[in-house]
Amino acid sequence: MRIGVPKEIKVHEYRVGLVPASVRELVAHGHEVLVETGAGAAIGFSDDAYRAAGATLLADAAEVFAQAELIVKVKEPQPQEWARLRPGQVLFAYLHLAPDPEQAKGLMASGCTAIAYETVTDAQGGLPLLAPMSEVAGRMAVQVGARCLEKEAGGAGILLSGVPGVPGARVTIIGGGVVGSNAARIAHGMRAHVTVLDKSARVLNALDAEFNGAVDTLFATYDSIEATVVESDLVIGAVLVPGAAAPKLVRRETVRRMRPGSVVVDVAIDQGGCFETSRPTTHADPTYVVDGVVHYCVTNMPGAVARTSAVALNNATLPFTLQLADKGWKRACAENPHLAAGVNVHAGRVTHPAVAEALGLEL
Ligand code: NAD
Repeated sequence: MRIGVPKEIKVHEYRVGLVPASVRELVAHGHEVLVETGAGAAIGFSDDAYRAAGATLLADAAEVFAQAELIVKVKEPQPQEWARLRPGQVLFAYLHLAPDPEQAKGLMASGCTAIAYETVTDAQGGLPLLAPMSEVAGRMAVQVGARCLEKEAGGAGILLSGVPGVPGARVTIIGGGVVGSNAARIAHGMRAHVTVLDKSARVLNALDAEFNGAVDTLFATYDSIEATVVESDLVIGAVLVPGAAAPKLVRRETVRRMRPGSVVVDVAIDQGGCFETSRPTTHADPTYVVDGVVHYCVTNMPGAVARTSAVALNNATLPFTLQLADKGWKRACAENPHLAAGVNVHAGRVTHPAVAEALGLEL
């Protein structure tokens, strides 16, 4: 099959649909890979690296779209990209169509088959193509939180790890799923005193077993959250209620009771955030202060570490890309219901029930 990788055109998007290692795997399976010049340059994947992996470099995106049967991207297509998609062509990318009727219209009008990373499922009921970005954000939350605790960043002037004779920071993580458990691993590894709160007994049991008691686990209630947050130096928001806005678990009065120079990193900000005081920020201006507490609320944290994020995303998507390329989308989806769950648009219609419902469309 002929697979195309256009350079991402969304502002500040540096990731790339296929990294050279993935190209090499696809070429080894007998496929032809067409990569737009400079597609990976911003994160250190040169055109030469793609050539060495067996790709053919094309000078512009229009050529890639014109020649490829399968387009592999990271972000949802932009209007000039919808216009290049055609019937029979397959698009594999993050789409997030539910809140984006314009894009849905564009994809329906193109006649392509659009498979969304974010609705591909796994046997455990998880979303395996979202998980790598949650791993990145969870780990990064501790890194940015540690930085925000420094004096110059507005923080209290606390070293997360402490030193001999001085205790490390108190880190509280609300939500112990993919983001929260990854944050716990890094915070514990940096020798902070870590508490994770969750509503799920299964999640609390798994964390207790993993850390053998070295990380405290608490059942999440308004009482336990308030009591822990006000004693914390760094609080990480990592809750998710699937399909819904994040619940506001930390009230403004509670933030006001935190010590000056404490830090909030609200990773759940892409779902509205779980602190009443959270509002979305960007990498260009990531923090603001409310009642003396530094808030970091960047909605696309993995973008800051685009190289790691691109490779992590490829590790998760490659098995599915190979199935699509080896078998064609129809047989691949017939044989793998988890990949089939990713099909959002086909032949001019939205085919995913939840996405169609969100958009007010008939299946
Ligand atoms: P997940 O489903 O793996 O984990 C969410 C956890 O929240 C679950 O363990 C669940 O039991 C817990 N939870 C739900 N309601 C709760 C409550 N009331 N109190 C305590 N715990 C509760 O989800 P995830 O992959 O870890 O994602 C967490 C959030 O991070 C999501 O909103 C996701 O969109 C977001 N995210 C943001 C970025 C970013 O760049 N800002 C990147 C990746 C993920």
